[in-house]
Amino acid sequence: MDTKRAARYPFLRESAEFAEKNSSDLESLLTSELYAPARRRGKERVLQALEKSEVSYVDLMTDYDRLIEVMSYPYARMLVSQVGDRFLTKRYALSEAVRMNSLLNKEDRETVIMVSEELGVTSTIDRDGTIHMGFPDYLRLASRLSSVDWKLINSDIHHGIVYLPQDKFSRLMQNALQDKIESELPLMTPEQFKPYMKEDVKDIGAALSDAKMRMDPTKGEGMKSDYLPPCLVHILEMSRNGLNLPHSARFAVVTFLKALGLGYEDIIKVFAESPDFDESKSEYQIKHIMGELNGGEGYSPPECKTMKTNGLCYSPDKLCEQEWMNHPLKYYRTKSKDAKKNAGQSAVSEIVKGPKPKDE
Ligand code: SF4
Repeated sequence: MDTKRAARYPFLRESAEFAEKNSSDLESLLTSELYAPARRRGKERVLQALEKSEVSYVDLMTDYDRLIEVMSYPYARMLVSQVGDRFLTKRYALSEAVRMNSLLNKEDRETVIMVSEELGVTSTIDRDGTIHMGFPDYLRLASRLSSVDWKLINSDIHHGIVYLPQDKFSRLMQNALQDKIESELPLMTPEQFKPYMKEDVKDIGAALSDAKMRMDPTKGEGMKSDYLPPCLVHILEMSRNGLNLPHSARFAVVTFLKALGLGYEDIIKVFAESPDFDESKSEYQIKHIMGELNGGEGYSPPECKTMKTNGLCYSPDKLCEQEWMNHPLKYYRTKSKDAKKNAGQSAVSEIVKGPKPKDE
């Protein structure tokens, strides 16, 4: 048994066997002082996912340290399951998968094959290091990667087999692991063990709220239509007036609103105002753009340059004309910041000068 590999890839069968061999079970993981370091590390895995979008790894020298690393993985998964938040689950799955990608990238053949098999992908490796995988697996894992490198036309495919260098194969395995973890969570935690996790679950919940606030462009205020850039105002008006929106305009609206933190239920309402609204068609389009159909992160909103190319930069105003203005989201954030600054200034001047007389 390769204990170093078990610690590097704790989702492998080999890792479970390593834990079993050391009589590490759920009860001892949650209750024994011996496994306190594994619980600390498990919590750290989840916090790193929230803070850095990547779980760290250092090579560990002793079997004891490797066992702790292996056991920290199920603990982290139990914590994520207990918090029960979709954003956290996706973020955690992504962060474990990013960690694995950076390790697998430089790994030996045996490990690459073992990891890919565990992730349900059959592969073989040439003498020169080129990896072969079946076309259906390639399509499933590469279709959500938007860079031109992943387009079929740029791929080396012969008779249903795709030929890849190790770094590209490893990137696909990142998607495979992310899908696997997302599909396995949440785990059921037996009631009698929940009290042991209470404090850690509370801390993760607090860190999750902070992370959501940090990443929310509206800082928890929801969308304010006063801050919308002219392009978005125009597109939304077109939709309301029943005009047919080109795909690029729908794409811009959905990605923009998603970036502001709106969920599917809020976004569909925008399109529901259109007289020729077809819910099933819109649902598919919106969820596809949001990445909800393939478990991906969804697309980013287009920058001003792309909006202009697509003929969607309607009635740009003075703020749009600033040299540094390059993104509709930047427009929104600038307006939001200015509004707060102005509100702060008028509060200060009211303190200095006293409130305005009522009849002024
Ligand atoms: S410059 Fe940018 S933000 Fe302003 S209207 Fe055009 S696309 Fe929108």
